Amino acid sequence: MREVHYKQVVEAVKEIAIKANYELPEDVELAYQTAIKREEAELGREVLQQILLNIKSAREERMAYCQDTGVAVVFVEIGQEVHVVGGSLEDAINEGVRKAYTEGYLRASMVYDPVFERKNTKDNTPAVIHYRIVPGDRLRLVFAPKGAGSENTSRLAMLKPADGWEGVKRFVLETVKLAGPNACPPFTVGVGIGGTFEYCALLAKKALFRPVGDRNPDPVGRRMEEELMEEVNKIGWGPMGFGGTVTAVDVKVELYPCHIASLPVAVNIQCHASRHAEIEL
Ligand code: SF4
Repeated sequence: MREVHYKQVVEAVKEIAIKANYELPEDVELAYQTAIKREEAELGREVLQQILLNIKSAREERMAYCQDTGVAVVFVEIGQEVHVVGGSLEDAINEGVRKAYTEGYLRASMVYDPVFERKNTKDNTPAVIHYRIVPGDRLRLVFAPKGAGSENTSRLAMLKPADGWEGVKRFVLETVKLAGPNACPPFTVGVGIGGTFEYCALLAKKALFRPVGDRNPDPVGRRMEEELMEEVNKIGWGPMGFGGTVTAVDVKVELYPCHIASLPVAVNIQCHASRHAEIEL
């Protein structure tokens, strides 16, 4: 059994939390560069230029790309042959988040309790952590800070199987229409179809981490992505909602089998601050 020390996890989480907040991934930057050529509205092109300038400034000046540094969402893949020593994995992840948000000057946005007092926890903990056991002896961590503007416009529906593809499409497009400028477009739209109520939402979130431009290897998923991408960009929100032809730089669909009587669909809207960073230990 391979061992990974608690402190290694703390430092790794701190590193990727800061990186994710300061540096947008290259594929995302490239997507905005390409989008300028596609955007028909002059104001839309100007907004995309500002977004690219913001990416450059944040990276070079080592500061957060957006003031909303988000909920600390962490996806963990734990090889079944790896053992964390020196403390619990969950504590290590939260300590890494704490260090990143305090030492990296990132805004603390978490409040407890969520309804009445809404008192800031001051260090952006606790993280929202999703674990998956996989073969092997590695520990893979993906950090994806999620701002509230776009998360708040995300939706889930338990459709009837008879609603079919038309029902799914209607729900996705309605969600993008409702999101509008409040969710800071251009978006990456993550769509989960199938599974159960909670698993469908997770599929939609995970869909956001696939590189921009990458298509679902399943021909059905691929067709859905292409059709949705075209329809979403006809909505006309454009960059930052000023109107235009680039409302989304990508739509990603993740499919999973579901119950004979169900058709769950979840749409996770990702704003232009499409942030994630990963590390393997
Ligand atoms: S929705 Fe995204 S870009 Fe807009 S404020 Fe929130 S994190 Fe920043």
